[in-house]
Amino acid sequence: MIVMKFGGTSNRDAAAMANVLRIITTHLAERPVVVVSAIADATNDLEESARTAASGDASRGEEILTRLHARHLAMVDALVSDKARAENLSRVFSGYLKELTTLLHGLAILRELTSRTMDAICSYGERFSSRIVAAGLQECGVDAVWVDAKDFMLTDGNFGKALPVMEAVRSNLARVIAPLVKQRQVPVTQGFIGVTSSGAYTTMGRESSDFSASIIGAAMDAERVQIWTDVDGILTADPRMVPGVRKVRHMSFDEAFELSYFGAKVLHPNTMLPLLEKNIPVEVRNSRREEGTGTLIDQPDPSEAVAPAVKSISFSADVTVVSLSPRKRTNQYLFWDGVFSVLSRSGIDVRTVTTSEYRIAFTIAGSYDSSAVIPRLEEFGPVTVFPEQASLCIVGSGLRGWKEFAGRVFGALAGVKTALIAYGASGLNMTVVVDRRDLEDALVRLHREFFGSSTPSGEFDVPRN
Ligand code: ADP
Ligand code: ASP
Ligand code: MG
Repeated sequence: MIVMKFGGTSNRDAAAMANVLRIITTHLAERPVVVVSAIADATNDLEESARTAASGDASRGEEILTRLHARHLAMVDALVSDKARAENLSRVFSGYLKELTTLLHGLAILRELTSRTMDAICSYGERFSSRIVAAGLQECGVDAVWVDAKDFMLTDGNFGKALPVMEAVRSNLARVIAPLVKQRQVPVTQGFIGVTSSGAYTTMGRESSDFSASIIGAAMDAERVQIWTDVDGILTADPRMVPGVRKVRHMSFDEAFELSYFGAKVLHPNTMLPLLEKNIPVEVRNSRREEGTGTLIDQPDPSEAVAPAVKSISFSADVTVVSLSPRKRTNQYLFWDGVFSVLSRSGIDVRTVTTSEYRIAFTIAGSYDSSAVIPRLEEFGPVTVFPEQASLCIVGSGLRGWKEFAGRVFGALAGVKTALIAYGASGLNMTVVVDRRDLEDALVRLHREFFGSSTPSGEFDVPRN
């Protein structure tokens, strides 16, 4: 069997979803399990309705929900012609709208929004969309079965960033989904959402439907996991930032992990983790250009051990650099230990770290409210904070042993002020932090250096260096 995941970009409207249905029907022989994200922008709308209601304005929150509900009904109208099927969906969706409205009223009264309630509200996006995909497949004559992720995706209770309890998920899938696949039915379920042992909806973090697909793929020993999106595969950079990007034909699990961990939106960073252990390949493919072969992610290509190659450049547009030194230069190990204990107790996601003999600097997400943690770090010594920075991560294979690599990076960035550089830990990446104002310029320069400036057409391999 295979897992086919369709993101919000592939389910933007009825025409896009009709195309998704068609793609699924061409893969029936491979026994797909279908994982669906919310339709484009639905999760943003749900979050916004919750925040608006919690600020006291329930009626504005309801307006957002009414529009979202109408978007889904319009898709049902366009895709489901069987009367009983359409009426059933419309009844289910009215129920969803009613439940959501009740939740919003509660928020407006309490004026408080917990991550638990936010997860409950966001769960509806995937529930709406997966219902339409299941019904749409039935319209095409496919024996599709809608499966509630609540019936198998057991997670911890870390609302907003829950993690699966793999053993339980594996046995639940064997009980709930495997028999359907065996009978050649097509299960359609939701990405992103899970459930606690006490039955509350959780979510695994924004963009995590990719992760859901890989959890299911790993737990069911899938032949491969397909991530269908709106680009030809993993590209040499985000096409919204850089002209003339190329498609990367192959990446190793570790390279794809580095790339997504350092900001490339195309895959959720956790996606590779369950698959790596089982060596299950991932294909990233374009739902608008089905004929394309996409990017294959699996084990490193042995030839890459000899020929180094930059494959892609990702970025995070908003990071803060924090730098500190100990008040007394006595024992640097105790200093580092103290600093990291504070950071881990505060749950801060530190991305890039550099040290000198007595100073440490690291990046945190710019959106993180560091006001509580800075005073605790100041107990060790003076802290300097550099906001409004951006990080660029150059990812490829064999970078550490490649003599010209660093020279080419710094040559391309000549004249750009760099705040922090990290290189050498894995041989798979170099991270450079620059002023946020310089991000686009730096990205375009690096891309030109490693991939040239001509705008290619068709499918391109990344050139070897
Ligand atoms: P989906 O809704 O299918 O999950 P996303 O919007 O989450 O789609 O991810 C696809 C988007 O990721 C692309 O449209 C592209 O703009 C962005 N992206 C960022 N970096 C890259 C990259 N290196 N390769 C491909 N796409 C990228
Ligand atoms: N719908 C969720 C989000 O927008 C999950 C996903 O799309 O992967 O974050
Ligand atoms: Mg995504």
